Amino acid sequence: MSDYDTVSAEVEHEDEIPEDHPRYQDLLTRHRIEKGVEKGITHLQGMHAEGRGSAFDYLLGEETIPSADDAERAAAAHLLLADHPVLSINGNVAALVPGEMVDLAETVDADLEVNLFNRTPERMQAIADHLRDHGAEAVKGLEADARIPNLDHQRGKVDEDGIYAADVVLVPLEDGDRAEALGEMDKTEIVIDLNPLSRSPRVAEVPIVDNIIRAVPNITAHARDLVDADRDTLEKIVEEFDREHALEAAEERIRSGF
Ligand code: ATP
Repeated sequence: MSDYDTVSAEVEHEDEIPEDHPRYQDLLTRHRIEKGVEKGITHLQGMHAEGRGSAFDYLLGEETIPSADDAERAAAAHLLLADHPVLSINGNVAALVPGEMVDLAETVDADLEVNLFNRTPERMQAIADHLRDHGAEAVKGLEADARIPNLDHQRGKVDEDGIYAADVVLVPLEDGDRAEALGEMDKTEIVIDLNPLSRSPRVAEVPIVDNIIRAVPNITAHARDLVDADRDTLEKIVEEFDREHALEAAEERIRSGF
């Protein structure tokens, strides 16, 4: 057994995880989800979702593959072109990339909205507070004065001036039913999901098959690069993006390793 094998069980703070560990990103992700559960931000089921994601990331080589980078650039262009972009936050997203989501929202001038599968007032509030602790000025989702059609009452709750009114929504680690229902509302949907076979990326206009801890900072980097670009340039990036290719390239990488 190497010294590294004991790392995750004993870590109190993520700084203790050695950055040169061969599975550094996986340990970091796991640690953040565990902390999220402890803080009441992440539901226990979020650990299962993380486990599924971790297996796919292992097969992807724990790196942003070129087709995912293209998708991240297309996502940045969509968000910059949008009239009303909204970034949806669930318990796993809040645990894994709170500051990075705040940074992206500021860069593309988007709203942040908490949207939970297992919605309780305590968890909604804990996540909103957590985002504010990471620099968010306004957090939507607590009003819940509108409904996504074709979803049951709890899971369909959104803010009327948030996700309901958005033209472009980023929905990372989303469950398939909600991704489908949002897609039916004629919104441009950007999904981050490590499983290219999952329903959510398959219904998205921009499926990003990448770990959220790499994807969000990279979308922000592309957005910073494109922030002064004219509409024609942004529209060209959007038009040239091929969603079928992005899904196929990710599946090919997972199945063959190439
Ligand atoms: P679906 O309902 O879409 O058919 P599912 O039941 O697997 O699929 P959920 O469990 O609701 O969906 O969502 C979890 C999804 O998030 C999984 O597809 C998983 O691969 C993905 N995922 C988990 N962790 C990460 C991560 N860190 N980055 C990106 N995706 C992740």
